[in-house]
Amino acid sequence: MIDCAIIGGGPAGLTAGLYATRGGLKNVVLFEKGMPGGQITQSSEIENYPGFFDHSKTGMDFMDTWQKQCFHFGLQHRLEEVKGVRKEGEHFVIEIAGKEAVEAKTVIVCTGSTPKRAGVKGEDQFFGKGVSTCATCDGFFYKNKEVAVLGGGDTALEEAYYLSNICSKVYVVHRRDTFRAAPPTIDRVKRTENIELILNSTVEEVIGDVTGVTGIKLKSTSGEERILDVPGIFVFVGNDVNNGVLKEQDGFLCDVNDRGQVVVDLKMRTSVEGLFAAGDIRMDAPKQVVCAAGDGAVAALGVISHIQEHS
Ligand code: FAD
Ligand code: NAP
Repeated sequence: MIDCAIIGGGPAGLTAGLYATRGGLKNVVLFEKGMPGGQITQSSEIENYPGFFDHSKTGMDFMDTWQKQCFHFGLQHRLEEVKGVRKEGEHFVIEIAGKEAVEAKTVIVCTGSTPKRAGVKGEDQFFGKGVSTCATCDGFFYKNKEVAVLGGGDTALEEAYYLSNICSKVYVVHRRDTFRAAPPTIDRVKRTENIELILNSTVEEVIGDVTGVTGIKLKSTSGEERILDVPGIFVFVGNDVNNGVLKEQDGFLCDVNDRGQVVVDLKMRTSVEGLFAAGDIRMDAPKQVVCAAGDGAVAALGVISHIQEHS
């Protein structure tokens, strides 16, 4: 039986592995269905991770050294997809696609989240080259430029407001004339001079060239078409938490909130003893690398205490 199974090898999972192995656990396995690194490897730059300030480096370059460091102290890596986690008595059973299940004393779920895509033509082609799902990460690249935001929920309007402080103008494109966002958030956006609402409209296509996005093609519900010349579009049409491994026949292995995020305490403990969650998967996650890494460290320290107390 392994001491700890870490599911997901993004910033949270890798950091959890580093702290668990460096903290003395001998048998720690990181299950990652792709190459370790997580969502940030999709980013062309990272500017807000303290201590890393090199504009020429991509998210992939950034995570490269994480792997070297995090595997240095004995963390084992299995390039496998976890299908589910069950609790049997005092231990956990990790079900792996096409392989024999593995037993573990503790589990840290770090499977992250996936921003939804709007399904617009050109969106995938220009993702990371003008199409973004993270204003905190990429907003600064559009300093004093005009950008578009797609969506009408809390995230879209909150992020549009954030961008209005950086960009010369923010167009919010929403398919209806009423918003899902909370009334104070809507009021604040409406009161912001450099935010223009384009309602009852959809984005038909993201247009660009080798340099990236150059504009978006809009269509109103009355059929009028228009091109907006913007170098960036932020898509905020909802977010999926990758909680599939915790799903059971009648719900989830541990408590999740109404958005499917795992409920944790300040030690990243879930409602099930020995099961921890860290990073974007957990409730109220700020969805930042630095926060996911911090969560991973906290969860690993919790795992070490748990194993000491139960051995
Ligand atoms: P993730 O990074 O989502 O990693 C989860 C990992 O789990 C993935 O590697 C996935 O393959 C794996 N996984 C999922 N399910 C399974 C399974 N069943 N079995 C095995 N493995 C599984 N944040 C910043 O701080 N600064 C930035 O500049 C920044 N830029 C960004 C740019 C882009 C384009 C995106 C998409 C995000 C950006 N972020 C940025 C956000 C940041 O990347 C995330 O907050 C962070 O990666 C979350 O880390 P995590 O470890 O919780 O999850
Ligand atoms: P959301 O509430 O699901 O809103 C998604 C928005 O995107 C909606 O306006 C929706 O339009 C639009 N949309 C969806 N698919 C689209 C598509 N394919 N093309 C164009 N538009 C599309 O998502 P969210 O804003 O990320 O919020 C998720 C949850 O988190 C919500 O419960 C929200 O209240 C909460 N949240 C809360 C806070 C806060 O409390 N401060 C902050 C952020 C998020 P329609 O409206 O027409 O469906």
